[in-house]
Amino acid sequence: MQTTAPVRGLSCTACGESADLSERRCPDCGAVLAVEFDADAVASAADCHPFPAESTVSIDEGATPLVAVPELADELGVNSVAIKDEGRNPTGSLADRKLSLAVSAAIQQGADRVGTPSAGNGAQSAAAYAARADIDSKGVVPTRCPFLNKAMVNVHGGDMHVVEGRYEDAVDTFGDEELTSVAPGHPFRIAGGTVLALELLADREWVVPDAVVHPTGHGETVVGLQQGFALAVDAGLADAVPRLYAAQPDSCAPIAAAADDGAAEPVPVDHPDTIVGPLEIPDPAAGRAAIDAIEAAGGDGVTVSDKEILQAAVDGCELGPEVGATGGTAVAGVRGLTDRGAFDTDDDVVLINPVAGSKEADLLRSHLMSLGM
Ligand SMILES: [Zn+2]
Repeated sequence: MQTTAPVRGLSCTACGESADLSERRCPDCGAVLAVEFDADAVASAADCHPFPAESTVSIDEGATPLVAVPELADELGVNSVAIKDEGRNPTGSLADRKLSLAVSAAIQQGADRVGTPSAGNGAQSAAAYAARADIDSKGVVPTRCPFLNKAMVNVHGGDMHVVEGRYEDAVDTFGDEELTSVAPGHPFRIAGGTVLALELLADREWVVPDAVVHPTGHGETVVGLQQGFALAVDAGLADAVPRLYAAQPDSCAPIAAAADDGAAEPVPVDHPDTIVGPLEIPDPAAGRAAIDAIEAAGGDGVTVSDKEILQAAVDGCELGPEVGATGGTAVAGVRGLTDRGAFDTDDDVVLINPVAGSKEADLLRSHLMSLGM
């Protein structure tokens, strides 16, 4: 596999064992693998991109804005709040950073068909990147997956298998036969979070924020972010790792609840039921690694109710870039963290909006209607 100079290989997030670039899980213990970068070879944000440009399937993902939201900083009583708006990626979600790299890796391994189970955005993104590379794709999504995602999988020419039920039903149905999996937990999906971390620090001219709040599903991005921040410190580009907070809906919060309880492993949720579809992930692919990452970054989990999330999303849209229910989980989470005294008055806080607000407009509109508006 053709990688950039700083990539050493893969290493296990649990046992630390090195693994070949073609592996997708640790051969020794089965935990998720992450891309290992040589910090001495990283001199800029661009250096941590794992593949050379000519080996990357790209639709110009990334380079998203970090939008200051001063009214929210005033409300919370902190020095600054900014939203890294990942909704401005090509298919409107952070998944594009992950699928660009995972599809690139698959093609370098000779894949002509990729596939993933998905709550919706991952399948849309996989279909878009596969189409860009002129290979086939398959998305396995639950019935509750939004129409928009299903429609766009078809528009990009992907095969779509809609499974009755929820995300775990799609996982159970997903088979790796005759396709190359780009499913959650893939090391190069995690690397999408690493690239995001470096870009976020570069946006701030390497002045490290005090805290980053991320709405979390599988935990992949949390793992990637922590690795990216630690890499920036090792490379001498940044002087600290920000506290990393994972925000989840309280009815499906395996990572946040475990982090909050000091538990080492997430406990799968038996009956997940949140309005925030992208975050309804009861048994996260990178859950244990995410809990380790939160601990390493001195952060925590925060759980918020669907009602708090929807109101925070509407408030967020009034104050800053459009956020939907997924991004609203970060806004609700930062409010919850403020209530428990997590921040100082001089803190700089970054929220990540993983999904374009307009992708989830129906949820926000329903919320307003429930309030009689
Ligand atoms: Zn291992």
